[in-house]
Amino acid sequence: MKPLKDHPERGGNCFRCGKGLPLGSLSYVAQIRIFAGFDGVLLEPEEGVEGQLERLLKQVEKSNPEDLEKEVYQEFHLILCKSCRDRLVDEIEHPWGNPSRFIH
Ligand SMILES: [Zn+2]
Repeated sequence: MKPLKDHPERGGNCFRCGKGLPLGSLSYVAQIRIFAGFDGVLLEPEEGVEGQLERLLKQVEKSNPEDLEKEVYQEFHLILCKSCRDRLVDEIEHPWGNPSRFIH
């Protein structure tokens, strides 16, 4: 398989339906960023801040830094054909209450 990382926007297959998207054909790239939200509220657990910190440090020691990073921030580049792009946009704009999305 070709590495996706190099020029994900060129060629390849549609991420969703798998349709081939040869160079020069109409395709779309969805760039999705997922990151941890922070609402400004820090809950202080019963164990207290020190206990929490200790637990967190132990957790960090055990974790792979890459995994930790993924938990906080992840970025995707999805290549889509036009119809899947239209569908994705439709689902984002109408996440609920659009019964047609269940008909395939
Ligand atoms: Zn598609």
